[in-house]
Amino acid sequence: MAGMFDNSVVVQVQQANDIVDVIGEHISLKKKGREMVGMCPFHDDHRPSLNVSSVKQIFKCFACGAGGDVFKFLQMRENLTFPQAIERLAERAGIKLKRTKPAKGQSQKPSEDIDPNKLAKVNAWAAKYFQQNLHDEKKGKQTRDYLAQRQITPESIKKWQLGLAINSPDDLLSTAKADKIPVKLLEQAGLITAQHQDKFINRLMFTITDVTGRVIGFGGRTLDETGAKYINSPTTPLFDKSNSVYGLEQARHQIVSTGTAVVVEGYTDCIMAHQFGCTNVIATLGTSFTAGHGRILRRYAKKVVLLFDSDVAGVEAANRALDVCLSQRIDIRLASVPEGKDPCDFLLTAGKERFEQLVNDAVDVFQFKWNRLTASFGSDDTLAGKRSAIEEYLQTIATALWAGNVSPIDRGLIVNQVSKIIGLDGKQINAELNKRLRQAQRTASYNAENQKGRTVDYGQGLFATAQREVLEVLLNEPKLFEIVKQKITADLFDVPILRQIAAIMFETLNTNIDASLAEMLAKTESVELGSSLVELTQGGEEKGNFKARLTGALNAIDRYQAQKSRIETIEDPSQFLRKVYENTGKENPHNVGMV
Ligand SMILES: [Zn+2]
Repeated sequence: MAGMFDNSVVVQVQQANDIVDVIGEHISLKKKGREMVGMCPFHDDHRPSLNVSSVKQIFKCFACGAGGDVFKFLQMRENLTFPQAIERLAERAGIKLKRTKPAKGQSQKPSEDIDPNKLAKVNAWAAKYFQQNLHDEKKGKQTRDYLAQRQITPESIKKWQLGLAINSPDDLLSTAKADKIPVKLLEQAGLITAQHQDKFINRLMFTITDVTGRVIGFGGRTLDETGAKYINSPTTPLFDKSNSVYGLEQARHQIVSTGTAVVVEGYTDCIMAHQFGCTNVIATLGTSFTAGHGRILRRYAKKVVLLFDSDVAGVEAANRALDVCLSQRIDIRLASVPEGKDPCDFLLTAGKERFEQLVNDAVDVFQFKWNRLTASFGSDDTLAGKRSAIEEYLQTIATALWAGNVSPIDRGLIVNQVSKIIGLDGKQINAELNKRLRQAQRTASYNAENQKGRTVDYGQGLFATAQREVLEVLLNEPKLFEIVKQKITADLFDVPILRQIAAIMFETLNTNIDASLAEMLAKTESVELGSSLVELTQGGEEKGNFKARLTGALNAIDRYQAQKSRIETIEDPSQFLRKVYENTGKENPHNVGMV
């Protein structure tokens, strides 16, 4: 089923990767009863809906229906194919994989498909290459001096895998060729351009990893002040600026234990913060704070502090981040570094304590907006200026009200405050808020409507229900397969998804009557099939009463088949219709002993 790999190896890889550990590398999990729960990464989750069972080695989201084993999680999370997920987890567990030859007629994957695992490998190779350049006695001297002058320590250089792209149009390319790395792969990873030139030339290189430490991309800072100051790897299946942050691998533990993530704008700001022992700091990658960043951080942090340079761009960026974060329901605080410094300079001149003070003194979104509103009253005396400032403020409050972040008491206080400042009475302000609130609700319900559609067709009618019952029972009581296999085969299932599941289950149970759900999942390639397997197992578990339900379902199947064969043997069309009528008349669909 896994095509390229022997099933016993697939099961071995599955067993070597505990699902709680693997999912725990992606989202933060908390214990709840016998299971672990966390924020589901597959829908816009507002309460922990994802359940992970360490006993069954499966996950299931009760809101969006996503479910499966450790392979399915990675397939969905990192957009991998089943074989790619197997390779990734084999590597994680240190298991060597042997490919079986593809069966005749079974075509290989088309070569256009970019394999994220291969991208990660070529990136890891490049990270090493850049580091070797930096540590090369001659090639790296100038850049090492520059880093020393910026007060970045050798420990930080190592911890952050800093490197150097030397001043040559194709040094990376020729080194890669000598190492027998396919040019196509370098191009796919964005390490060289379509014209086969190195992408990063004469730049200080920052290695960007994901939370598990995989190298997903690079940032490069110019060393001769030509071209853009910073450039990043292009978007690849592995890397997307607006959904990636710098330093999460290094900051993750401290973010979870303090509950706070501090977001800065620059690589060096982030590195310097860690160097000073503030290890819950991460950086965005030359973009403003996006909904994607919010979603990532929400898995680890309760509170996010956005720390910006005090320049106007910083304030603007912070302002844009507000709506994103309110709708993501994160406690978001804002702070800007005084005296026009960036956080890196501020740390070097003012020290760790004042930096931490800055983070602690960060104000919430309302205070921030309020300060902005009053500042604009001071500086902008035009009526239009005042009006747009008030509009902006009311919009923020409405978004927050909708997201459930403001209690009725807070709302009353806010309305009073605004009323005092702008000389509008409370009723008018409340009416304005309600108008905006309705708008936010309309947008939200539209979005929710568009996220639906993840329904599986399990067929209709008694025969379809009976098929489903058999599978639900077997998934919970595999030993009952002894009875099932004497009566029916997998070919008998006619609902497409149930037929696929039956094929896997019958094949597995025929060789191992004690097969676990996880073992069957190890044979399912598609995430949809995996989700269905988990759904059927849990649906079946809730109903219980396995033996009786199986008997009922098998009887129903018996009757259906008998009926079908009676109809098939009648040749005269008029008789056929009469028989159909008789049969449907005799059978009472409510009386077959099924739930
Ligand atoms: Zn979900």
